[in-house]
Amino acid sequence: MSEPQKIIVIGAGINGVSTAIWLRRAGHDVTLLDKDGPGAGASFGNAGLLAQWAIIPVNTPGLMKTGLKYLANPKSPLFMQWSYLPKMLPWLIRFLSHANEDGARRMIEGLIPILTDSVAQHQALTRGTSAAEFVALSDFSYAYETRAAFDADSYGWKYRSDAGMAPELIEGPAVQEAEPILGRRIQCLAVTKDHGHVLNPGGYLKALAQVLIEEGGTLRQAEVTDLTLTDGRITSIETDQGSLTCDQAVLAAGIWSKPLMRKLGLNVPLEAERGHHLHLQNPSQMPRNPMMVTTGKFGVTPMNDGLRCAGTVELGSIEKGPSRKALDLIRHYIAHTFPDLTYDSAEEWLGFRPSTPDSLPLIGEIAQTGVHAAFGHQHIGLTAGPKTGRLVADLIEGRRTNLDLTPYDANRFGRR
Ligand SMILES: Cc1cc2nc3c(=O)[nH]c(=O)nc-3n(C[C@H](O)[C@H](O)[C@H](O)COP(=O)(O)OP(=O)(O)OC[C@H]3O[C@@H](n4cnc5c(N)ncnc54)[C@H](O)[C@@H]3O)c2cc1C
Repeated sequence: MSEPQKIIVIGAGINGVSTAIWLRRAGHDVTLLDKDGPGAGASFGNAGLLAQWAIIPVNTPGLMKTGLKYLANPKSPLFMQWSYLPKMLPWLIRFLSHANEDGARRMIEGLIPILTDSVAQHQALTRGTSAAEFVALSDFSYAYETRAAFDADSYGWKYRSDAGMAPELIEGPAVQEAEPILGRRIQCLAVTKDHGHVLNPGGYLKALAQVLIEEGGTLRQAEVTDLTLTDGRITSIETDQGSLTCDQAVLAAGIWSKPLMRKLGLNVPLEAERGHHLHLQNPSQMPRNPMMVTTGKFGVTPMNDGLRCAGTVELGSIEKGPSRKALDLIRHYIAHTFPDLTYDSAEEWLGFRPSTPDSLPLIGEIAQTGVHAAFGHQHIGLTAGPKTGRLVADLIEGRRTNLDLTPYDANRFGRR
């Protein structure tokens, strides 16, 4: 263990809370700051999937063609706020520049180590605490309308199979025997075994924040407005509640990390892949395991307070409210996929996936500032958060990790 240091973690989403807990367990004086309280951002409303199988980024070969096809089809799960396109174009061009064989392989190789042991990482984070009850073990299915639709997804399944996640295929009437909630339109289930999900992401984040407090850390509600460096190193964090001195800091503010990175002179190309959820109250049926409705590209997860249907991608601004089109699309595919399902009401939610052009997060120190990045986890932040937290804590401790962290280098996008 190194000398105890005063460390401020900015952002109480899954990345910030996990990092704060691991730093506290290493003996540091840790303060976790959030402008709204724990689990207020993307970590609140996600699909709750510990998506160990989500090793295929969105920007794979052929994305340009599929993307245009999707945008032309109102029943597809990709949307664009066209008025935002000029602002987003530089990011989009870089994002598309990785959508080739080499780029995809590099991204997949970077995603595998931070995803595939997620359940064990969540268990290690929560063992012996009240947060453990939120982590459930489950299998995961991709629900396809036809076998041909599964075959058309062969690119992803090849990589998943190579990574030890070959699917078990269930076809025809056996689909409804395996998952009675599914209507006859679904004719093929590709099941991958031994994953997990979170039974209530918002509750989980609150419970984790409580774990931090019980283990001696501090949680404060404050909005970070600036970072003060002296001779190139962080000395204090400026907030709407005043200035807080520190030896080191961790920036884990999800999509909102971008303006704070700019204050450090880094121009991180971070944009929001907006996603929505419908959380169904009192559903008449529940799936036995979480699944992906592949036509609508949303996850369906049985939770302890209802059935969560979360996903779709809308490229656009974080200043705009929820998109009716995206929410209606999820609603449409719920009725289409689960024809006998009824429910009392559906909570609607919009969240921002913090996405980089190479679909990999930023993990590690920014130059030699003493500020460490833990953000940019796009679609997989809940899955990778606890491991990210551990890696950042190891780096601050000066412990060698058994993982090559080059793919996540916080400085890889250069300075302004
Ligand atoms: C619809 C949808 C479904 C998803 N499903 C899944 C899934 O099933 N599995 C999965 O692994 N991932 C999923 N994701 C992605 C996942 O939710 C995100 O990658 C993850 O939550 C990001 O966590 P974070 O801690 O980096 O950021 P956030 O959870 O966004 O937390 C950032 C925090 O920083 C705080 N903050 C911001 N600015 C400041 C400031 N200036 N001062 C103080 N505090 C500040 C915010 O209030 C917020 O609490 C999904 C995302 C969406 C939108």
